Amino acid sequence: MTTAVVDRGLFLDGEWVETGAWLEVRSPYDDSLVGRVARGGADETRRAVDAAERAMREPLPAHKRAEILVRVAGALGRRADEAARVISAEAAKPMKAARVEVARAMSTYTMAAVEARTLAGQVVPMDASQAGDGKMAITLRVPIGVVGAISPFNFPLNLVAHKIAPALAAGCAVVLKPASQTPLSALFLAELEADAGLPPGWLNVVVGSSAEIGDVLVEDERVRLITFTGSGAVGWKLRERAPRKKVGLELGNATPVIVEADADVDDAAARCAAHAFSFAGQSCISVQRIYVQRDAYEAFKAAFLPRVEALRVGDPADEETDVGPLISRDERARVLAWVEEAVARGGMLLTGGTLAGELLRPTVVESPPADTQLACDEAFGPVCTLQPYDTLDEAIALANGTRYGLQAGIFTRELRTALRAGAELEFGGVTVNEAPTFRADQMPYGGVKDSGNTKEGPAWAVREMTEERLVVVNL
Ligand code: NAP
Repeated sequence: MTTAVVDRGLFLDGEWVETGAWLEVRSPYDDSLVGRVARGGADETRRAVDAAERAMREPLPAHKRAEILVRVAGALGRRADEAARVISAEAAKPMKAARVEVARAMSTYTMAAVEARTLAGQVVPMDASQAGDGKMAITLRVPIGVVGAISPFNFPLNLVAHKIAPALAAGCAVVLKPASQTPLSALFLAELEADAGLPPGWLNVVVGSSAEIGDVLVEDERVRLITFTGSGAVGWKLRERAPRKKVGLELGNATPVIVEADADVDDAAARCAAHAFSFAGQSCISVQRIYVQRDAYEAFKAAFLPRVEALRVGDPADEETDVGPLISRDERARVLAWVEEAVARGGMLLTGGTLAGELLRPTVVESPPADTQLACDEAFGPVCTLQPYDTLDEAIALANGTRYGLQAGIFTRELRTALRAGAELEFGGVTVNEAPTFRADQMPYGGVKDSGNTKEGPAWAVREMTEERLVVVNL
């Protein structure tokens, strides 16, 4: 690793704070020490909520919020290489993918700045009813209050950006708890926000025991909204425990792709090969279940498998690497066990399923039984399935046969087929002639069913983070 070991305090009320205890951040690739971060708990979280609430008593005008957001985007551009190295070191994300994540975080900040300047309420047409005659009414978008944000390890910069940039755009102060494996990217962003002129208290970052920090965010009534990205097991529990707060959940998926026989099969194969294995499949919308119409099945396989086998597996710090390690050995063991189960129960191993040194090779399993974990649950690893189908009805049923509903994709040249898929695939988003791993940061992004209950993307997030207040004037 080329990144120097760094020590970081927590970011509380505009200051870097040490606690006397340290959390070591180690590389998932070679276990080398990447950095140490002050370890916080309930006390630091309460302090963070105090600071956030105090900050919000002196609202920042929209133009100042927008200027700060634009300055952070600029700083991310200037320090893009450093930011990518931090992501790559702590998450073991290949540099290629880490650089894309930094560019996307810039975009998230840029879009959030637009929202800060344009977020507005509505004029209510009061004379549309007799009761409203002689009255005028408008709605104001009022910041909801202190936002508690909890983020996962897999996009440690851009998924933090998707919470803290819209919150500032909406006029809300934040208490952020990043994943313990990847706190350095979040603290890097905090540094950029402070350098950009963010006054104390508007962003506070607490790293440490998830249970202690989570408990304060759930129990403290001043935290009015919790925005959570991560696993369903944690997310739905948080929501259950905070029935009087708004709790926005961005959770997992078992991402399906349908390839119709009329599609550009080579293009579909190329996009699926790239997007099933990027960051070793550790994206919530990584291509996982590929269904190909029978007439095109062999052609797809012939175009897909050589591309999978050509992916470079290795050190995430190497600019040529496509696929690095999983976040932990436990995760690697779990994914391997799922592959073994699928194969033992009749699935055919087409490639992979073995280790290259310590790393799991990109793996493809053909037609595992529908009730194996690989076929119906979120793999979150460098593995996908391939299965033929005959009719579109059958493909849509297979794609929908999951408890998840984040994004799905279809490749076809037929407009009617594309529109039908858009209407019938029960997912928050459907991509046509693009892998469902695609996301541009201004898009509304979020799932249905077990995948969540909200949408991110700055224009949608600022609406979640504000409340609509009605003002009626008697003329
Ligand atoms: P995770 O284990 O649920 O962790 C997510 C965050 O929750 C971490 O910061 C974690 O802290 C924290 N946490 C754990 N237990 C908690 C508790 N009791 N109270 C409060 N916070 C708690 O998920 P992950 O493994 O990092 O991320 C992978 C999952 O995220 C996958 O399912 C993936 O699909 C999903 N994801 C969804 C999206 C989306 O936008 N829909 C995007 C990316 C990822 P610690 O790190 O300290 O445990």
